[in-house]
Amino acid sequence: GPLVGNLIGEDHVNYVMMYNMLTGIRIAVSRCQAKIRRPLTDEDYTSANKYSFDIVGNELTPSAKYDFKFKDYAPWVFRELREDYFHLDPADYLLSLTAKYILSELGSPGKSGSFFYFSRDYRFIIKTIHHNEHKFLRRILKQYYEHVKDNPHTLLSRFYGLHRVKLPRGRKIHFVIMNNLFPPHRDIHETYDLKGSTVGREYPEEKAEKNPRATLKDLNWINRGKTLELGPEKRALLTEQLRRDSELLKRLQVMDYSLLVGIHNMQRGNRDNVRSNTLKVFSPNMPLIKRKPTQVKGPSSPDAIALRRIMRESDPKRLGSGTISLPDEDTAGERQHFLFYQDEGGLRATDELNENMDPIYYLGVIDILTPYNSLKKLEHFWKGLSADRHKISPVPPEEYGDRFFAFMKAIMRGGEGGGRFKAE
Ligand code: ATP
Ligand code: CA
Ligand code: CA
Repeated sequence: GPLVGNLIGEDHVNYVMMYNMLTGIRIAVSRCQAKIRRPLTDEDYTSANKYSFDIVGNELTPSAKYDFKFKDYAPWVFRELREDYFHLDPADYLLSLTAKYILSELGSPGKSGSFFYFSRDYRFIIKTIHHNEHKFLRRILKQYYEHVKDNPHTLLSRFYGLHRVKLPRGRKIHFVIMNNLFPPHRDIHETYDLKGSTVGREYPEEKAEKNPRATLKDLNWINRGKTLELGPEKRALLTEQLRRDSELLKRLQVMDYSLLVGIHNMQRGNRDNVRSNTLKVFSPNMPLIKRKPTQVKGPSSPDAIALRRIMRESDPKRLGSGTISLPDEDTAGERQHFLFYQDEGGLRATDELNENMDPIYYLGVIDILTPYNSLKKLEHFWKGLSADRHKISPVPPEEYGDRFFAFMKAIMRGGEGGGRFKAE
């Protein structure tokens, strides 16, 4: 059944970390936001502001529940990205993230050990990242910024902020805030994480039957004979944007990224989730991430019910410092500004006459912060010993990008591959 993240209450092991993350964001972002806008300078890309929180408080930071340090990276750059290119309303952004200190945690779905958290309204994802990814994002920030500026409809992850928290004598935790590709109002009936690599890129079909919300991979896509159903117009636009995005990723020498594709079948609608009354009003898209069976929370687990109840009730007293309003339509909010997120927050399939049809796709390029470093080179060598060196996931960035783009073109109906990707 549908999976739901663990709601983080005060008794949760990661509550303190989450509280510190959100407090830091609230103070740092509103501080930057309060200043008068000025043009960016080169120093803005490398700058960082440090905050020290404690239970007493001082003129710079109000008192907090815990002692911790917070670092806000390139605040002016991210502010401009959010306001000018990602079309976020500043107050709305802060309120969504921090109106009430509750996020839901999805643990660590990938091999990377990153944790994922959802804002209460499911619009934002906080992902903890490795120190290397952090350093890398800082290094490429200017190029990323320029790309977003030149490509308002980019499919790359939209990074809204880069921060770090540190507990006394504790570890430093780096994290980014990014867009949730999947909309809060719609069930995602199938999810694929596509890299264009075929070796080991299969989620077992037996398991997929039992867990329809699992994230499937390239071989599942191919074996199920799926195509991206897009007419000439959308096909051309999407191809061109993917070409530009993968060119940037090649230039940045990254790899291991993927195209995340969520499919919402309009005919099927949201009825899978409408199994109890609590689900009618709000059916969060929590199934994006595969988890170990022991971590699975069903739709009727206490956490899930509590989460939905909190999300439904907009009693300001319950919500702490502000109220959350979920946009009534997926089309409301920032998504209306983006070509590929315009149809109910996503991209509707079209026929050869460019007429709308079922389904709606929710897609984007994710996990774009892995540089091709020595570690990956080693992995390439070892994996290459036992499998075709060109079909495995870790190949050099040029090859990775070309293969990625070729695969995406091939899976589009009417594209070069006629919609069917043929594994040689
Ligand atoms: P690994 O490096 O092992 O691939 P990771 O920890 O870097 O894992 P990601 O690849 O970024 O994690 O994401 C893992 C899964 O989380 C994705 O397959 C997808 O299901 C979900 N996910 C990641 N980013 C988003 C997003 N922006 N919107 C919706 N879902 C997402
Ligand atoms: Ca990944
Ligand atoms: Ca990763």
